[in-house]
Amino acid sequence: MIRIWIKLAASPTHFPVTTMTLSQSLVSIACFLAVSTTMAQDKVLNIYSARHYPTDEALYSDFTKATGIKINRVDADDAGILARLKAEGAASPADVILLVDAARLWRAEIDGLFLPVKSKVLDDAIPATLRAKPADNGGTAWFGLSTRARVVVFDKLKFKKSDFDSYEKLAAPQFKGQLCIRSGSHPYNLSLFGAMTEHLGAEKTEAWLKGMVGNMARSPKGGDTDQIKGVASGECGVAVTNTYYLARMMRSSNPADKAVAEKVGVVFPNQSSWGTHVNVAGGAVARHAKNTDNAVKFLEYLASPSAQNHFANGNNEWPVAKGVSFDNPALKAITGGSFKSELIPISAVGMNQIKVQQMLDRVGFK
Ligand code: FE
Repeated sequence: MIRIWIKLAASPTHFPVTTMTLSQSLVSIACFLAVSTTMAQDKVLNIYSARHYPTDEALYSDFTKATGIKINRVDADDAGILARLKAEGAASPADVILLVDAARLWRAEIDGLFLPVKSKVLDDAIPATLRAKPADNGGTAWFGLSTRARVVVFDKLKFKKSDFDSYEKLAAPQFKGQLCIRSGSHPYNLSLFGAMTEHLGAEKTEAWLKGMVGNMARSPKGGDTDQIKGVASGECGVAVTNTYYLARMMRSSNPADKAVAEKVGVVFPNQSSWGTHVNVAGGAVARHAKNTDNAVKFLEYLASPSAQNHFANGNNEWPVAKGVSFDNPALKAITGGSFKSELIPISAVGMNQIKVQQMLDRVGFK
């Protein structure tokens, strides 16, 4: 850019600086810089990401290596990203948004923060149940890019797998004082409870939530890892967690983490009915994206076999793209090979969150 500028400034036929007033010169320079910035943005992508996984770095650098598109990334939690997008409005520099839960993706979609896009590559790669419902223009507001199962872990000394082979059993009266779970209002739980509402109906789901409140070993606190530790320490008999937190502990280089993981048993609930609840981490093009082509290119890259493999091996998630094979010993050990996942549209799960929050308030689920 500097080289071009010197050439233009030195050539009166192209840029007659000497005949301009100072203000005219400044306007010309400003225009030139604006054009240069636009040109420079051709190879730029601005991402707002709530993926909190250090192993993702390679995902970004591989994309830049393959395309020459430089990535600028803002890392924040989901709520922070949504607030920032709303505050920035049309001036937002964000091109791609990465969020880690269906409830949050749905919330951002209805708040108008995404630009629905049409991509045959994404439509072919990602099952319809793991992306947003088609928008009015036929585009899709967001795409699931990886999945995680919400499973039950239990104290192997006190219980056996069949004690918790369904989510419904978490509310059974014989498990009074045993259950540890993070806040009901956390999106991971809002999505699980939203899925239960699809399967059981609102009335039975509310009774189930009430039963779980009655079984709690302690008031909800901490994240999923804290619940696993609670089981290992004996404070809780049973807990709920996303699979990657357990896989991370199993693969940890820290012996204390490994010891925790060894103490707990894991169940994929509802294998003999509708299947275990799976959530998505996903991506979307921002409503006011300036680099939309690069944004779609990046989402398509995330659905490619190499990026999908990375989700599986780096962060212990499952690929969403059809026909992608991967090799992750911890995930294999957890599932025993494979498991049946529920098939309800993940967009319906997100949609239930307001109803679920009202139920939580009524039954006193913190
Ligand atoms: Fe997480």
